[in-house]
Amino acid sequence: MTLQSAKTLPLVDLRRQYESIKDEVRLAMDEVLNNSDFIMGEAVFEFEREFAAFCGVKHAIGVASGTAALHLVLYALGVGAGDEVITVAHTFIATAEPIVILGARPVFVDINLQDYTLDPARLERAITPRTRAIIPVHLYGQCADMSPILEIAEQHGIPVIEDAAQAHGATYDHQRAGSMGIAGCFSFYPGKNLGAYGDAGAITTNDDALAERLRRLRNHGRQSKYEHLENGYGERLDTLQAAVLRVKLQHLTAWNSKRQNLAVYYSDKLSGIPELKLPHIRQTSAPVFHLYVIRLAERDLLLKHLQERGIQAGIHYPIPLHLQPAYRALGYHRGDLPQTETAASSVLSLPLFPEMTRAEQDFVIAAIRDFYG
Ligand SMILES: *Cc1c(COP(=O)(O)O)cnc(C)c1O
Repeated sequence: MTLQSAKTLPLVDLRRQYESIKDEVRLAMDEVLNNSDFIMGEAVFEFEREFAAFCGVKHAIGVASGTAALHLVLYALGVGAGDEVITVAHTFIATAEPIVILGARPVFVDINLQDYTLDPARLERAITPRTRAIIPVHLYGQCADMSPILEIAEQHGIPVIEDAAQAHGATYDHQRAGSMGIAGCFSFYPGKNLGAYGDAGAITTNDDALAERLRRLRNHGRQSKYEHLENGYGERLDTLQAAVLRVKLQHLTAWNSKRQNLAVYYSDKLSGIPELKLPHIRQTSAPVFHLYVIRLAERDLLLKHLQERGIQAGIHYPIPLHLQPAYRALGYHRGDLPQTETAASSVLSLPLFPEMTRAEQDFVIAAIRDFYG
């Protein structure tokens, strides 16, 4: 039960996955190179059809990144100067960046510490006449508690945009991430559950008019080659990335169930340690474990202990958005979001990727047990 072949156990190992699909990927990339349809090529449209079907929605629109997906949806919904968009601070900064770029103000609602997602009980009091959208984040692979969020949003006539960048294939009440709000925003950053070999993203929606507008906006507002109906952006999905994503989408369900099995094993073996808060799965929820995150008071000491044994654990995320230097001007202070701040100081992501072996998991588990003597 030692790591004989590798000196360190990484948080994710993209190389190992590539080795397992090398031939398929090279064939798909070769086809794009032979066709040389690098921009808006066939693979983009094929992937959009396949990803829409996977998510159970009418439309998927391939874009340049998850950040671009959020940006384009907020822009298409008319979010601009003076508006407010409600989201969480316990997330990657890309959830908030497009809000700020459009001149609007991110309003951060605290999370609950069971599943680390937006606490619906705190949502309503954050709504003002300026609220133009709500962005729950399906963090670590588990959907936010969408029913109450959608209900409150509907009562106030506010659209809900899902940040599904960590939740490809996760379900909530048998509905897939990205199929519940007005739009779902996906990232295919290499380390995500469905990852490209570069930057890539997609937007999912059942709204025909919104889909048509987004297809135009990502491609310079183009109606046809030379006719630009409105001012747009250069935020398209590359054909080469789409080709890689088509190959990897075929494996996503199997990879997600491997992640789920690894998570079950971690939870089983770590459940005897009372100091650890293990991931909580809500009853109608099937998470896809983008990350396996535990919570403990002595987080930094355990992180160091694991590092000394060559185990790369991670922290997602140590500085919440409301305390980021970049957002000082928003006027938030320490203490404003107690649950978020508790999470930031106590969460720890253990290594987890579909190709991880049982021996590697046992090594991590033994190291944690050893920490508690
Ligand atoms: C990765 C991620 C994004 C941004 O995606 P990019 O493709 O890197 O732009 C947005 N939100 C969350 C929660 C993410 O994890």
